[in-house]
Amino acid sequence: MQSQSVSLPRQRFTMWLATQKRLLTKERLLNMKIQVDDSKCCLCQDTVMETNKHLFVDCEYATKVRDALLSWSNINLPASELNNILELIKKKHWKKFKKEVVAALWGAMVNHIWKARNWKQFKGVSLQHSDIVKEIIRKIVGRIEMYKDSKELLEVEVFGRIYVPRISFVLV
Ligand SMILES: [Zn+2]
Repeated sequence: MQSQSVSLPRQRFTMWLATQKRLLTKERLLNMKIQVDDSKCCLCQDTVMETNKHLFVDCEYATKVRDALLSWSNINLPASELNNILELIKKKHWKKFKKEVVAALWGAMVNHIWKARNWKQFKGVSLQHSDIVKEIIRKIVGRIEMYKDSKELLEVEVFGRIYVPRISFVLV
């Protein structure tokens, strides 16, 4: 349990893809000379092309999800692409466990924005950003809870008390 990473494997994979800009955004499909009916972002009203940066950074939908998660976790990170954020997290003077949790939080965010995009794009279903935020928080809290009996607990408690008071209930 102790050696297990906080993020889920599938999330890590999506995160890796996003870091590598390998997700098949419409911009990437066009660059690969693959026809797309509509190159615009399907999550907002902007008439801009769906690029990696737009979808995960500039899009109104992404901004709402990110702002809610930053406010919930009481951390301060800029609006930037995942690879920049992961570099910033690395340089922070945070405990290793907090770095893992924040990286996992960001990974879950990318994963869920991508899911919302796919649901809208392929099923015509709009996932509310507030529901996405709730699901991300539920997953992250559940993941942290798995560390309850591990020796990481001390660090979780520090993290919980100081930085994420709203998840401290999982620690008692
Ligand atoms: Zn958008």
